[in-house]
Amino acid sequence: MKYYNLKDHLEKINFREATIKGQGKEKGLFFPENIPRFNEEFIQNLHQYSNEEIAYQCMKDFVGDEIPSEILKEIVAETVSFEIPLEKINEQISILELFHGPTLAFKDIGARFMSRCLSYFLKDQQKKVTVLVATSGDTGGAVAHGFYKIPQINVVILYPKNRVSPVQEKQLTALGENISALEVNGSFDDCQNLVKQAFSDEEINSQLFLTSANSINVARWLPQQIYYLIALKQWIQQHKEHPVICVPSGNFGNICAGLLAHFRGLSASHFIAACNANHVIPDYFTTQNYQPQKAIATLSNAMDVGDPSNFVRVLELFGHQFETVKNKISAYSIDDDETMKTISKVYEKYGYILEPHSAVAFASMEKYLQENPDQKGFILGTAHPVKFPDAVEKAIHTQIEIPESLKELMKKEKKTVEINSDFEELRRFLLHKI
Ligand SMILES: *Cc1c(COP(=O)(O)O)cnc(C)c1O
Repeated sequence: MKYYNLKDHLEKINFREATIKGQGKEKGLFFPENIPRFNEEFIQNLHQYSNEEIAYQCMKDFVGDEIPSEILKEIVAETVSFEIPLEKINEQISILELFHGPTLAFKDIGARFMSRCLSYFLKDQQKKVTVLVATSGDTGGAVAHGFYKIPQINVVILYPKNRVSPVQEKQLTALGENISALEVNGSFDDCQNLVKQAFSDEEINSQLFLTSANSINVARWLPQQIYYLIALKQWIQQHKEHPVICVPSGNFGNICAGLLAHFRGLSASHFIAACNANHVIPDYFTTQNYQPQKAIATLSNAMDVGDPSNFVRVLELFGHQFETVKNKISAYSIDDDETMKTISKVYEKYGYILEPHSAVAFASMEKYLQENPDQKGFILGTAHPVKFPDAVEKAIHTQIEIPESLKELMKKEKKTVEINSDFEELRRFLLHKI
């Protein structure tokens, strides 16, 4: 499979190069040259396939012969090596729980697939590879766990001191081995600036092979299709009608993967983009005018995005036909107040504990179902409630139970190197400490 740069269609590369490079010229995103249809028999009989087989069928056309099929089978098996259950919340709404992986968030799936592909592609390199990433919380943990103990790869994560939650901090800082966590005296923007400077520093790049584990990388984006199939496999065993699928959205990578699977033959009656108070896309759907905004802080902080980078892929998928996009996708904006009320209400009425991102999805789904009462569907549960204990416990007036795996993690020691937000300290660390 070839991938073309959305900013310059003449730049075409294969899966290996797209995985290593991340993005193309002018920061353009890569997009698959053709959309391979699922085999009809496969889609009709999903319930007869294991999750590993589904994952392999989903990914093989995108990788082609660039990874031998036996190795790709191992990679996808490790990618989906935890439970992904579809649970019923009420008669109309179910939830796909994507938070049973190592960092309790759906980003584990993309990060696990990408890290293993990258490791395969770089195994014959002489130099060690350094993955450099800035995080505001969830991405860093998923990337750290994805690359943990992967040979030939060092990971350096920059995070803003005192601005990530206690669970998120432990997920970044307690691993050790090939993972280094740098605690930056500054904001997330400072972290991102430091990473940018490192990528353009000649001396660093002459000594280290730097790469980013950016969320727009095709090797993180494409495997997200897998769990839409795993959801459908469970859905068709209980329902005749096609599901409405509602996705809590920030950068729009997740929903775009679902739409891609739909174009390949996965049945869905409708998609909903559930946004928080950052409502660039809901506005676009009413005005047809895309107007990027500065992101504002909300309870569902992983969706605080004012200029969603993956939305261009959604448009590309639909051939830039606004009416077609609108017929398939609805978008809603849910503010923090409504998010909190939704967490309280769903707990009281159905005994299910949502966290803020999934609550935004639940509230959006309810709005859609009010207008379309004969439909049913599922939301994607993108994080475990323990990752957002303050908001959740305040909404349900109850302490939430901490999973065993997390109790172990919280006991571990935090290992970090504290640096200032000027570049010199990062430079010294990269050149001399790893
Ligand atoms: C990253 C993230 C999202 C948003 O996903 P996108 O692919 O950026 O739209 C939603 N929920 C959680 C918990 C996340 O970590």
